[in-house]
Amino acid sequence: MIQSDTQIPMVDLKGQYLKIKPEIDSAIQDVIDSTSFINGLPVGEFANNLESYTGARHVIPVANGTDALQIALMALGLKPGDEVIVPAFTYIASAEVIALLGMVPVMVDVDYDNFNVSAAHIRKAITNKTKAIIPVHLFGQSCPMEEILQLAEANDLYVIEDNAQSIGAVHTFTDGREQQTGTMGHFGCTSFFPTKNLGCMGDGGALMTNDDELAFRAKMIASHGQSKKYIHDVVGCNSRLDTIQAAILNVKLHHLNDYIEARQTAANRYYEGLFDLPSLVLPRKMPYTTHVFHQFTLKVTDGSRDELKTFLASHGIPSMIYYPLPLQSQQAFADIVREGEQLNTSELLCQQVLSLPMHTELTEEVQNFIIEKIREYAEQ
Ligand SMILES: *Cc1c(COP(=O)(O)O)cnc(C)c1O
Repeated sequence: MIQSDTQIPMVDLKGQYLKIKPEIDSAIQDVIDSTSFINGLPVGEFANNLESYTGARHVIPVANGTDALQIALMALGLKPGDEVIVPAFTYIASAEVIALLGMVPVMVDVDYDNFNVSAAHIRKAITNKTKAIIPVHLFGQSCPMEEILQLAEANDLYVIEDNAQSIGAVHTFTDGREQQTGTMGHFGCTSFFPTKNLGCMGDGGALMTNDDELAFRAKMIASHGQSKKYIHDVVGCNSRLDTIQAAILNVKLHHLNDYIEARQTAANRYYEGLFDLPSLVLPRKMPYTTHVFHQFTLKVTDGSRDELKTFLASHGIPSMIYYPLPLQSQQAFADIVREGEQLNTSELLCQQVLSLPMHTELTEEVQNFIIEKIREYAEQ
């Protein structure tokens, strides 16, 4: 029995590190010994390793996931005033980069069931100024990409997948073909922020693409628009993955499949323990995608989400609200955003969602305690 004064972590990075400490420590020490801190060998090795893992033709490591999105928009040659469609229910970064480059983020709603955008939502928002779509594979599963890709092709739109939360998820097309999230659009962008499913020990990110020309442009933009040393063809930025982070990621990529499995096991325990509570809607797994459970996000439908959160906290159980405000309501976007349709579902989700502890080190004992307390609350 767990005492109620024990603080359960939302994410257990320490426990995860301790299991692979010798491998990680020696990878870091090797970089220090080499003193090749910028663009050392592990950076290129990691790009190759992630290409093999994901099936993407090119991986371009950069400084973080937000930069990856920005560089993708720049590499596609999008211009100020262009409209880019993005979900209203996501992390700010997905839309921020659009505004930062002087483009117009056009917000669309997500589906209540799976928190993701669909072609039906995107279609309503397309105008003659629309140039690109940023589908976000939220919480660990793929958007319905088959229809989204068809819609994009029919309307001549670029597709930039925001895959910061779903690396390793696999989308199945109706002809049986399987592709990982992040490898289906013109670009896929991901983040190696420590708490992401493949996290480093600082900041990191990457772009993926199957297009040689786009890969070349993205690489050039990430390196001050430089085609050859000190020859600058376009205005770019400075966005590099540190060698130490690449060395850490080379170790952790070997464990990614085990990490995904551990998350899926933990999710299954939540499903088994909570499926019958009428005031809770558990995350719906969609048939066209695997779920890598970046988050396990409940919807509390009886209006008591905040009370449940407080009750859990009083028993040392953390929970998080991803996300408390839809993007169209963020002050930062007040004068910029265009709403491509009514955003009722995003508003509703912000009232109802609650993410439970989800990480690779969750034990059955801890989960039983969390489940017991949620049941105690729901049944009172
Ligand atoms: C984390 C995240 C990002 C940004 O990644 P950083 O590495 O923190 O810049 C972008 N989009 C989504 C959906 C994310 O969850």
